Amino acid sequence: KLVSREFRPEDTVVDVQGAKIGGRHLAVMAGPCAVESLEQLLEAAVIVKRAGAQFLRGGAFKPRTSPYDFQGLEEKGLEMLAAAREKTGLKVITEVVDSASVGLVSQYADVLQIGTRNMQNFNLLKTVGRTDKPVLLKRGLAATISEWLNAAEYIMSEGNYNVILCERGIRTFETYTRNTLDLGAVAAVKTLSHLPVIVDPSHGTGRWKMVRPMARAAVAAGADGLIIEVHPNPAEALCDGNQSLTPENFSLLMNEIGAIAAVT
Ligand code: PEP
Ligand code: MN
Repeated sequence: KLVSREFRPEDTVVDVQGAKIGGRHLAVMAGPCAVESLEQLLEAAVIVKRAGAQFLRGGAFKPRTSPYDFQGLEEKGLEMLAAAREKTGLKVITEVVDSASVGLVSQYADVLQIGTRNMQNFNLLKTVGRTDKPVLLKRGLAATISEWLNAAEYIMSEGNYNVILCERGIRTFETYTRNTLDLGAVAAVKTLSHLPVIVDPSHGTGRWKMVRPMARAAVAAGADGLIIEVHPNPAEALCDGNQSLTPENFSLLMNEIGAIAAVT
């Protein structure tokens, strides 16, 4: 298989116009769960950039559990992401939720994000596989490691080898946390595949107090990067405020992981 270490013994390094993910490079993607307004996004982007991250995250299309929750600003949100890239130089990662919008999202994004709920949307996987954009593939919330790697294979089989895996927590019997962050999967994937793997401790825990400890653990476990929800004012977030870091806590996290990466 194309995803396997047998096919490619050395680590794949995905290069997003100079921002590298994989190998010995620690990539950090951070920003709000959802793009809410231009002011909110630009404020978040400046915070994220100042703390040292290379990528700005933010959803313009939001796949929400309830149809009555905020669904995202759609193309207006994509335009705001492009404006934030213009202002800060950060690369933009944002979610694409269906095959029909892959063309539109590709006009704005540097990295296409496939969400947990779409990990086995094979038509979507094949469509992003035919683009020239790097793809961040989140693990399905009830997917085995093998199913996750097969999803990556769908993308690669169409010719796009720039796939980044993302562990974001799985469904277990535990209810204290929103999901159970499976850091064992990071170590497993590192032996099975050459693809970079990053960790999302925000969705992986659902609790902001757990985000810094689990981010530190992820880096120590060998993750190639992190994707973190950061909001200028988490209490006012339209989406996922409970798991979003304040600017101060994000800055602390960046200092901590730098120290851990230096010794691992
Ligand atoms: C997100 O990153 O905001 C998101 C919706 O993540 P997931 O697909 O992992 O739930
Ligand atoms: Mn979120």
